[in-house]
Amino acid sequence: MDRTEPRVKPPHIGIIGAGVSGLQCANILLEQGFRVTILEARDRVGGRICQSDKLGYTVDLGPNWIHASDGPEVNPMLRIATQTSTPLHRWNDKQLIFDSHGQPIDENISDRLSTILWDVIEEAFSFSSAAGEEGNPDIDANMSLHDYIKLKAVEKLPSEDERAMLLRMSEMFGAYIGEPIHRQSLKFAWMEECCGGDELFVESNYSSILEAVAKPALSHANIKLDTYVERIHATEGGSSQKQVELTTKQGELFHFDEVVVSAPLGWLKKHHDAFDPKLPPPILSAISNIGLSQLEKVFITFPTAFWNDELDKDNSICFANWLTPDYTPDTNPSGWPQEIWNLASFREPNRHPTLLFYTYGDCSRHIVNSIKDMSPEDEFRFLNQFFLPHYSRLPGFAKELPDCQPRRILASKWLLDELNGNASYCNFPVGITNADQDVLAFREGCPDRHLWFCGEHAAPFDECGTAAGAYLSGEHAGKAIVARYQNSQAGPAA
Ligand SMILES: Cc1cc2nc3c(=O)[nH]c(=O)nc-3n(C[C@H](O)[C@H](O)[C@H](O)COP(=O)(O)OP(=O)(O)OC[C@H]3O[C@@H](n4cnc5c(N)ncnc54)[C@H](O)[C@@H]3O)c2cc1C
Repeated sequence: MDRTEPRVKPPHIGIIGAGVSGLQCANILLEQGFRVTILEARDRVGGRICQSDKLGYTVDLGPNWIHASDGPEVNPMLRIATQTSTPLHRWNDKQLIFDSHGQPIDENISDRLSTILWDVIEEAFSFSSAAGEEGNPDIDANMSLHDYIKLKAVEKLPSEDERAMLLRMSEMFGAYIGEPIHRQSLKFAWMEECCGGDELFVESNYSSILEAVAKPALSHANIKLDTYVERIHATEGGSSQKQVELTTKQGELFHFDEVVVSAPLGWLKKHHDAFDPKLPPPILSAISNIGLSQLEKVFITFPTAFWNDELDKDNSICFANWLTPDYTPDTNPSGWPQEIWNLASFREPNRHPTLLFYTYGDCSRHIVNSIKDMSPEDEFRFLNQFFLPHYSRLPGFAKELPDCQPRRILASKWLLDELNGNASYCNFPVGITNADQDVLAFREGCPDRHLWFCGEHAAPFDECGTAAGAYLSGEHAGKAIVARYQNSQAGPAA
C-alpha cells in the first residue's frame, strides 16, 4: 500500500429507525466497511419487535409467528430462531368453532369446512397470481378476497347453511391481514401468500432473535436513541459535501452520504411532507395506495388453564373461533368475530394459562379507543366484560370457580403508537391497482437523491407485512448502497 496516498474515509450512511429492517441494513453496511449512524426515535431498538412483562412473564406485543413453509434458507427469522435456540411451536389441528348463537359446531363439520376454506384461500392466491408476479390482469381491482370465497362457496357447497357458515368462518383471515377480508384485494391476494401456510409460533418471545439481529449494529454502529427525525433534506452535495441532511426534533443536524428511511409506512403516510424536495410520484403513490391494518393482541391469563384437557394436555384445543356473535348486544353489537390461541399448549417453561385474542380492523379500533384513557382497573373491567361472553363458552368454565376468573389482562395499543403511524402493518386493500409496482417503488428508492427505503412495506412480495420481510428489505437496501460504491473511489477500504 502506498502510504503517501490520502486515506479515503468510508462513506457515512444514516439510517432512520432501528427496527429489524434498519438493523439488518446496518449489518450489511458495517460488514462492508461503511460508517453507520442510526437515528431512532424510541429509547430502545427493535421497533415493532417488543415485549411486555405485565402478565408476570414476558410476551410479544408485536410478532409471534414465523412463516416456515419456505424453510430456514429463505426465511431469516426461522434461521435465526434456530441459531438462538428459540423454542418454536407447531400447533395441533384441534380447533373449536362456535356458531353465531355461541353453540359449538360439530367437529366433523367445522373440520370439513375449514379444509374447504383453506383450499379456497390457496386457490385465490393461485388465481390472483395467474400471470406470474404481476398478478392476474383480468381481476377487477374492486373485488375482494371475500367476493372470491362467496363465489367458490356456491360451487363447492350445495347447502345454503354451510355456505353461510363457510363465509363466517372466512372472517378469521382478518386476523392475518389485520382488516376484514371484504377489504382485502383479490387481485393482490398473492402478495399475502405467506399467511396461513406452515406457521410456527415462538413459544417464548422474539427477544433472542432481536438480540442476534441487533448485535453487530449495537457493537459497531453509532446508535442514537431518543432521536426523532423531522426533516429529510436532499442537499445534492451542498457546503458539507454530504448529500442528505437530517434535522431532528431537538434541532440537531446530521449529514450523510446516503440515507435509508426505515420509518414505518404509517409514519410516512402522515409525514411525507418531511421530505425536501418532495418525494417523486411513484413513492408518493406507494405511500398513499398501500393500506394499513389494525391488528391488536389481548392476553388474558387465569390461575389455571381451565379449558385444557389436563389428562391429555397435548390434545387440548389450540384455536377457538367465535363466529359473528349475536349474543353480545351490549359489548359487541357489531358482531365482530373473535378468536384465541391457547398459550397453555406450549412446553414448560413457556406453558402459561393464557388465552391470546387477536382483534382486527374496527374491533381493534373500538377496544383501544375505549380503554385509552381508562385507569388500569377500568381497563381490566372493560376488557373482561368484552371477552367474557367468548371465553365463558370454553370447556371447563364455571362462573363461580376462582380458576375461571382472569388474573391479568394485557392489551396491545398500536393504534396509539405515533411512531408506527397509529397502525400495525401494511396490507393491500380493495381498489389498489398496482400494489406490486408500489412495493417496487419503495425497493428502488431514490438513488439520484441518495435516499433509500426499507421496512415491512418494502419487502419481497410475499413477505410484505412480516418481520422476515422487513429484515430482507433492510438487506436489500444495504446491498444496493454497497453496489453503488463497489467500484467507486469513494468506496470503503474493504
Ligand atoms: C400486533 C402485531 C403483530 C404482528 N405479528 C407478526 C407476526 O406474527 N409475524 C411477523 O413476521 N410479523 C408480524 N408483525 C409485523 C412485524 O412486526 C413487522 O413487519 C416488523 O417488525 C417491521 O419492522 P420494520 O423494521 O419495518 O419497522 P419497525 O419495527 O416499526 O421499525 C421502524 C423504526 O423506526 C422508528 N421511527 C419511526 N419514525 C421515526 C422518526 N421520525 N425518527 C426516528 N425513528 C423513527 C420507530 O420507532 C421504529 O423503531 C406484527 C406486527 C404487529 C404490530
